[in-house]
Amino acid sequence: MSDDWFEDSVRRYSKMAGYVKPDSGDGDLRLDSNENLVIPRRFSMEMLSAARRATDARRYPLGGTERLTASLSRYLRVRPGMIGVGNGSDQILDLILSNFASRKTRVLVSEPTFGFFEARCRLYGIPLLRVPFSAGMELDMTRLTDLSGRARMIYLDSPNNPTGFQFPKRDLRHLIEEFDGPVIIDEAYGIFGDYSVASWTRRLENLIVVGTFSKSFGLAGLRAGYCVAREEFIDVFNRVIQHPYPVNSIAIEACIAALEKADQIQTAADTVRAERSRMIETLRGYDTFEVFDSKANFILFDAGGAYRRIHTALLEQGISVRLIGRVGPREGCLRVTVGTQEMNSRFLLAVRDLLQ
Ligand SMILES: *Cc1c(COP(=O)(O)O)cnc(C)c1O
Repeated sequence: MSDDWFEDSVRRYSKMAGYVKPDSGDGDLRLDSNENLVIPRRFSMEMLSAARRATDARRYPLGGTERLTASLSRYLRVRPGMIGVGNGSDQILDLILSNFASRKTRVLVSEPTFGFFEARCRLYGIPLLRVPFSAGMELDMTRLTDLSGRARMIYLDSPNNPTGFQFPKRDLRHLIEEFDGPVIIDEAYGIFGDYSVASWTRRLENLIVVGTFSKSFGLAGLRAGYCVAREEFIDVFNRVIQHPYPVNSIAIEACIAALEKADQIQTAADTVRAERSRMIETLRGYDTFEVFDSKANFILFDAGGAYRRIHTALLEQGISVRLIGRVGPREGCLRVTVGTQEMNSRFLLAVRDLLQ
């Protein structure tokens, strides 16, 4: 019997690699975290002012998550009983993994997949089955289906971070219908994609859709997310698994106010889509790059052997993009967030200067 069990544990954990946050340097133009910069700062300030007026911070937000759920229910067009909320979608994913998965739960994911999800599986010793992206940044549904026979859970971000890939709707539907176990579809970037599968939760009992206010609503700093699934699961999630007050009062009120401005959010997403096309087209003009199609608010491109040099040179000009490196057979990938027209133009001009 050792008395040092706690120290031993701490030592074991200390050797683990956690989630690595982006290194943004001192850049004043941060296009490295997929935040929604098209939504003006003024918008979030208005939401916060409304939240401040509606909040008495001396009190626990009793009834607050229920009101947020009611607003989400109207926005997502599913019954309130099918919605759970959390301290960012990160926390929801964490709760699902820590309560429902174990060292024996093989989870089928793409390679790469969302970094946080992977880090959480590593923490809990949950084994992953990975299907790599192709050189053209597509995921092979046949390989996914073949491997799914050995998996007990599936997690896919749709569109995928960092590739921007989204399956044709029919293929994804088929995968979920045929799989004998829970399928988590993470729609953090769903609003920028071709479709959402949230409404499928009415029919598909094994589907859990996860969403967030961080990207589409431009409220990453508030840490609010949600999940949509059949009522039996959501009842367990809300009543037993989730913390009693997972979302703070300010975030609750600001998110409710933001949901009332859903039309502005949609307009911002349309701008992102238009700017995304312009950026892809411009970047494709350079032979140095292989630029992949994207359904999200960021673009992945392979800069080959030049990727570190380009990353550093951009940083020197105050522009921070995400250093991704190897993706499938690709060696030197960079990921850039689609921002406002001005931001994107500044990035594109800097790239042009570098390559001339
Ligand atoms: C950014 C991101 C999230 C958001 O997580 P929050 O905790 O809600 O901020 C979730 N999933 C993916 C794939 C992401 O890229």
